[in-house]
Amino acid sequence: MTTIFEKIIAGELSADIVYKDEQVTAFRDINPAAPTHILIVPNKAIPTVNDIQPEDEPVVGHMIYVAKLLAEQEGIAEDGYRLIFNCNKHGGQEVFHLHLHLIGGRPLGPMVVRK
Ligand code: 5GP
Repeated sequence: MTTIFEKIIAGELSADIVYKDEQVTAFRDINPAAPTHILIVPNKAIPTVNDIQPEDEPVVGHMIYVAKLLAEQEGIAEDGYRLIFNCNKHGGQEVFHLHLHLIGGRPLGPMVVRK
């Protein structure tokens, strides 16, 4: 099934794209949780972290490298930021195309809500 992110990668759906190369596309989240909230996605459709295969290791590493570059570009590298992969129901994943959230621009508080 085609996801929203595949449509953004293909240029069929508009998004504020901040980075693109042959492996990944990065665009601003439509509902930002902080001043900087960028999604870094592989151009190849991988539904969840559970679906990552050995041959995907380079693109997953590249996603993190691009997050680092974008943090510098956004001016949030020194203060710090958070990188998040949500997986499936308990992780709160809503879009089933692998994505890395780059979130920053303010203190982000506790990593996880404690019960
Ligand atoms: P998840 O909960 O799956 O980890 O995160 C999905 C993210 O995608 C959410 O933060 C949501 O705001 C964002 N999102 C959902 N639909 C769209 C869209 O059409 N465009 C953009 N730019 N972001 C989207």
